[in-house]
Amino acid sequence: MEMVVFKADKTNPAVLTIDSGDTVVFECRDAFNQVIKKPEDLPVDFDMEKINPATGPVFVKGAEPGDTLEVHIQKIDLADQGSCCIIPNFGFIHEDYPDPWTRIIPIRNGFAEFSDKIRIPIDPFPGTIIVAPPEGSHGTLIPKEYGGNMDSKACRVGTTVYLPVFVEGALFGVGDVHAVQGDGEVCGTAVEIDAEVTIKLVVNKKKKIKRPQYETDEYFMTTAWGETADAAAKIAIRDMIDWLVEEKNLTREEEYALCSCAVDFRVSQFVDITPGVRAVLPKNIFID
Ligand code: CA
Ligand code: CA
Repeated sequence: MEMVVFKADKTNPAVLTIDSGDTVVFECRDAFNQVIKKPEDLPVDFDMEKINPATGPVFVKGAEPGDTLEVHIQKIDLADQGSCCIIPNFGFIHEDYPDPWTRIIPIRNGFAEFSDKIRIPIDPFPGTIIVAPPEGSHGTLIPKEYGGNMDSKACRVGTTVYLPVFVEGALFGVGDVHAVQGDGEVCGTAVEIDAEVTIKLVVNKKKKIKRPQYETDEYFMTTAWGETADAAAKIAIRDMIDWLVEEKNLTREEEYALCSCAVDFRVSQFVDITPGVRAVLPKNIFID
């Protein structure tokens, strides 16, 4: 399916209706909505109404407000080239880089070819994973409790992303695939690329969450955003403590201390207006 939205809004008509447990192949446009194709295409004068498209929305039957949507990322097929751009007035140290710049980056044999002498192993993930918020019409660029532009490389193949459901059917969308990105995404773009993303969507009636979480076979992760990375980290660690108290039945003091001993913070991105972090707990510390 290849229908896109540029805003998350419960009034967006669903382009597909599925059952819980169905798998969908999403044809995703790159975050520039396919306007950067060659080195001469500079990231200026964007139509800001047409940036960061999310493919969807998909209505998942049975999903109701208060449920959790499990997003199982199964496969990502990349196009054969992507692009990385420096966008004026955007990026972590944009004050140092006033001019627009574009680098076209071929993808060959599992590598993103940054230059003749630099190649980066691909590690693809969708930067934007979103459900409809309870009210209003929200651009996809700022990550929020309904997901959006999370730009977390933890969301790779094999990860389950949990999103809280706010409206009937959830109205799920995905896009903004990066062939590879460093934690932080400091210049504001990574290897932005068209891709097909295969995802299984499952409605979970038992799990109750306030904002997205991630899980793999090896790690459980909370994530949050704030005015500062500090503020985001405090939300993420409080969510982690809540999860541990609920799931592992220890005291809050034990869990606070356990987080100190075993949880790593990672930066997801520093650039999407509200910086995002994730708290990462290895699951193999639990013996049972
Ligand atoms: Ca992004
Ligand atoms: Ca992007």
